[in-house]
Order: sequence, then structure tokens, then C-alpha cells
Amino acid sequence: MIETKSQPGEQGRFGAYGGRYAPETLMHPLEELEQAYFAARSDPAFQAEFDYLLKNYVGRPSPLYYAKRLSESLGGASSGSMPGTKIYLKREDLLHTGAHKINNCVGQALLARRMGKRRIIAETGAGQHGVATATVCALFGFTCRVYMGEEDMARQRLNVFRMKLLGAEVIPVTAGQRTLKEAISEAMRDWVTNVEDTYYLLGSALGSHPYPLMVRDFQSVIGKEAREQILAAEGRLPDQLIACVGGGSNAIGLFHAFRDDANVKMIGVEAGGRGTGLGEHAARFSGGTPGVLQGTFTYLLQDNNGQIVNTHSVSAGLDYAAVGPEHAMLHDSGRAEYTSCNDSDALDACQRLMLLEGILPALESSHAIAEVIKRAPKARNEIIIVNLSGRGDKDIEILQRELKL
Ligand SMILES: *Cc1c(COP(=O)(O)O)cnc(C)c1O
Repeated sequence: MIETKSQPGEQGRFGAYGGRYAPETLMHPLEELEQAYFAARSDPAFQAEFDYLLKNYVGRPSPLYYAKRLSESLGGASSGSMPGTKIYLKREDLLHTGAHKINNCVGQALLARRMGKRRIIAETGAGQHGVATATVCALFGFTCRVYMGEEDMARQRLNVFRMKLLGAEVIPVTAGQRTLKEAISEAMRDWVTNVEDTYYLLGSALGSHPYPLMVRDFQSVIGKEAREQILAAEGRLPDQLIACVGGGSNAIGLFHAFRDDANVKMIGVEAGGRGTGLGEHAARFSGGTPGVLQGTFTYLLQDNNGQIVNTHSVSAGLDYAAVGPEHAMLHDSGRAEYTSCNDSDALDACQRLMLLEGILPALESSHAIAEVIKRAPKARNEIIIVNLSGRGDKDIEILQRELKL
């Protein structure tokens, strides 16, 4: 089932954030998309097909795995009569194509088909969203074009080839920093030109309304399952939820089902990169201020003149100057807490999870693992759920270069 509670207000705002800051030519397509999505969302046949594909094609529900050795290594788990702090991993890495991105792609592909569009365009950073988009395009028989920054193409070569194998056309973007921001701009340019037959399949809880809402709805299956699974395993709700935040879709997907559970802490982890100076990280909440980028009002990394600054992260999927607008609201209200983890802690966390649990996390997800490594030793008999948003196979070359084994 698609989650429908907690709507954004008028014009798709989450508190002061979100909205629709789009060029004139995209206003009508965005309204059309909103109408089509609201109609689909209340159509039981749409919901049923979404659920069917999540179960039989994507491989849901994903397991909620108790990481016993990781928990014990952090001073948790049973000592004497106390149960100790327990860490659970929500295994989105086990899904088809290796990350949570596929949940959203299946939902939007169903919507595109319903709207009669057969040409799909998308942007991608790490390539995971591009792979997931190319996958659903093969599944539905759509043509697929993916825009990707040249820098990201170089560091995620494996995913570029996977997209090509799936029949997608991958267009290198050479502007600016040659990463995700420029890829989104190119995809928007394509959409403006080909709006009649083209569906823009945006990959995170970003952009103009209705994308942040729609992507959250499709990803909220993560938290809905996790809530049921932890109640079945432990008979109570968790104390903390931890997820990495790029655009924010895996985090909001986990958080959403727990929003009304005031005792469940929600922690988002941004990319701390290689330093705290502007340009060295992608920590929007510690280094950014509100502004408009690519269709939405949210926290951004910008200089004093409002120019977007460069970002850096070892993980391409977290390397973006803006954050999803719903996170901006959760940040200001204090309902969620945001922190950051630097490149080297993420790399250590990745290696640690390999050695203790035999699980290779994506470098994005390794940021969330690094945060639980910091927090678990201070927690007393808590239950912590970490979203393992994806698997690290795509990052092997980077790991080979960064870790001297
Ligand atoms: C894309 C990606 C992310 C970051 O995107 P969100 O929208 O913030 O979830 C995180 N983890 C993995 C594995 C990814 O592929």
C-alpha cells in the first residue's frame, strides 16, 4: 500500500519548504503529473499492481536483520541480565538492482504507463537510480535516456555499462562540476523540449511538487515494513532510526511510518566529505542555508551571493548541494536530527561491516553505519534500526583505491 497520511500543504509545501519553482513551460506538465498521481494513488488497481511488483519483481519485503556481531562489538548485546543495545539493519541492499531506488522507479513507471508516456528520462549520480530506471524501462518496454555527469560516469563505470546492457542511452553531462546537479539540469532541459511524450523519472525526494511527495510515498514501504518487523521481533518500537541523506528518499522512506511515534528518534546522516569548509562536503544542514535549487525551496550549499558551491563526497549518491524539502521541515521542527560523517569514517564503517557481518554496504549506506558505530556505545539497551540503503558492489573500484589491503 502507498502511504497517504501527512500531506504537504498548498502548492506542495512542507512547512515553509518545497513548492514548485519551475520554468513556465513545466508548470502545466507538473500539474498534469500531480493530477495523474493523485488519481493513481486512490485507485486500488494501481496500488495492487504496485504491491504485486514490489513483492514479485523487487523482492519485498526486505529483511530486518539483527546484526549481532556488530552490536556486540560496540559494547551492546547481552551482558548478564541486560539485553544490551541491538542494531538491526533494514536490508534494502538485497532488493533487485541492489538499492532502495527500485521502489520509486516501479511506482513512477506504473504512473508513466498510466499517463500514456513511453519515453522515460532520468538523471543519475552514483548510477543506482539510472540502473533502476533502465531496469523498469526494460520491464515496461519504454525507451530510456539517462543523464549522468562525466565525473560520476568515471567513478561508477560498472553502473554505466549496466545501463547500456539494459538498453538505455547514457548521456554524459560535461557542464560545471560534472555530477548530479548538472545531470538534473540536463534532464529538465530535455523534459521542457519533449514534454508531450516524455516522462521525467526523478530519483529522490527532491524537485518541484509533486515529486518530493510522490517519491516519499513510494519509498514509505521501507518504514512500514520495518515497523511491523521490529514489533514482531522485539515487541516494541525502536529507540533510534538512522539513514544516510543524499536527496533524502531512503531516509524519508524509513522515517515516515514512525513520524507520529514521538519516542522514536530519527537521525539523518549527510556526507561530511573531507573537511568542514564550503566545497569539501555535502552537509547541507550544518553548512547550508535555505534557498531555491532545481524547483524546490530547501537547505542549500551556497555562497554569500547565492551561487551554488561545489560539493564533495567519496559516495556519488550523497554528493548534491540540496536536500529534500521534507527533511528541511523535519530539521527546523526538531522532529529529526541531522549529522554528518566524513569520507574516512564511512570507509572504515564499510570495512567493519564486511569483517563483522559479511555484508558489503554501499558507500552511501556506510555513512549511516558510521553513525551507529558512534552512537551505539553510548546507548543503553536500545534498539536501533539502520537503513542499509544499498549494496557496495558498485563501489569496489573506489574501495580498492582507498583501502590498502
Ligand atoms: C542514491 C542512493 C542514496 C542517496 O539517495 P537518497 O535519496 O538520499 O536515499 C543512498 N544510498 C544508496 C545506496 C543510493 O543508491
